[in-house]
Amino acid sequence: MQDTASWGLCIHCKWWQIEPDAAIMNDTKGLCIDQKLQPYLLRVSGDSGCNLFVDGVPARAAGSGDSPPTARPVR
Ligand code: SF4
Repeated sequence: MQDTASWGLCIHCKWWQIEPDAAIMNDTKGLCIDQKLQPYLLRVSGDSGCNLFVDGVPARAAGSGDSPPTARPVR
């Protein structure tokens, strides 16, 4: 059985990292900086989500929304 208890949306996750001037929107693209997912350079939108979710506000760094992301994780 899948663990869905901690599943949440990137838009509310502390591991979502977006551009310094990006609006916090469902279609805003950013880098997931969860430590387990960092090797994958996972680019996710605000309405993406997963069960590594941790409630918080997004981090910000230039290059977070590039394809592929070029920013380093700031947390
Ligand atoms: S993919 Fe998961 S861990 Fe990464 S920002 Fe989205 S909800 Fe958070």
